[in-house]
Amino acid sequence: MKLVLIGAPAAGKGTQARKLIAKYGLAYISTGDMLREEVAKGSELGLKVKDIMSSGSLVSDDLIIAIVKERIKADDCKRGFILDGFPRTVVQAEKLDELIGSIDKAIYINCPDEVLLERITARETCPKCGASYNRISVPSKVPGICDVCGEHLTQRKDDTVEAGKARLATFHEQSEPLVAYYKKQGNLFEVDGMSGVENVTNAIFAELGD
Ligand code: AMP
Repeated sequence: MKLVLIGAPAAGKGTQARKLIAKYGLAYISTGDMLREEVAKGSELGLKVKDIMSSGSLVSDDLIIAIVKERIKADDCKRGFILDGFPRTVVQAEKLDELIGSIDKAIYINCPDEVLLERITARETCPKCGASYNRISVPSKVPGICDVCGEHLTQRKDDTVEAGKARLATFHEQSEPLVAYYKKQGNLFEVDGMSGVENVTNAIFAELGD
């Protein structure tokens, strides 16, 4: 199964991706996580994308397509994969179709901007195991501490009000056209991101079946 998750920042893509991986045994591909790793390593690629990422803009289509093209060749992708944060432009979606034929389903988690901005600034991530939390919608059991591994949680550099607003604008301008793109293909499933984490998961599972 080849799935794409579409949604503005903090719509709940990462949270739902984890549930989908657990149920369907798919590889998880988050282009944002891959780029953040490069930034943390201080690699040439990391240095190139660091400022673009913290401003809330997108890195170039060519660069991100090259990264995904390599990643989907890996063994763990043979059983299928979930793409989180890619494609983010129609050019990327067209290129993906060229690379893999076509996806099975694009899951669009729809949420209003006001809620998203509030969620963005309340988001926390575990630097050790990658688990993500939200002080409002998905809080850790002990504030500031990862439920899974006990590490102190951190905030992403682009999870500020200013960068958050820029990322929402970027989503509407460049990524929202993907909804129409996949609708036309007959592969779109839209779910209400305000209905609660469990209801969103159940709706997606019902759509994808066993
Ligand atoms: P994310 O973790 O998915 O919110 O991604 C964080 C940042 O990485 C984005 O704001 C972009 O700057 C960059 N990025 C991630 N995926 C892509 C993509 N598919 N195309 C362009 N830029 C991306």
